[in-house]
Amino acid sequence: MTGRADTEPVIVRVDRDRCIGSGMCALSAPDSLALGADGLAAPLAAFADGGAELTDELAEAVDFCPVEALTLHSARGGYRIDPAECPAPVVPAARRSPRAAGGAGTTGHRAPDTPDR
Ligand code: SF4
Repeated sequence: MTGRADTEPVIVRVDRDRCIGSGMCALSAPDSLALGADGLAAPLAAFADGGAELTDELAEAVDFCPVEALTLHSARGGYRIDPAECPAPVVPAARRSPRAAGGAGTTGHRAPDTPDR
């Protein structure tokens, strides 16, 4: 969990293709989530639209969903808060192509062991 969730309203989304209707989230965070008539989890109104303050119970429900169907998002920016989005992979400079590293590739020459992309 990032610190941003502590200072801004959040919404919770349910991946309905993943949810198996275990009900664990509705039990652990009944002020945020409930099971719908279809047996799948659904956020309560405040957590579906405008956003509300993140509670420990909701954070726990997101973390412990057995199929990772729950995600927290900023109600203002829409970006995902938890689970955090994977950052772009960090490629060590030694493995970058000369062109990307601003090296020999900028002159049209390539190192012999540089893989094609
Ligand atoms: S804990 Fe996960 S799988 Fe279970 S009802 Fe909630 S969202 Fe669905």
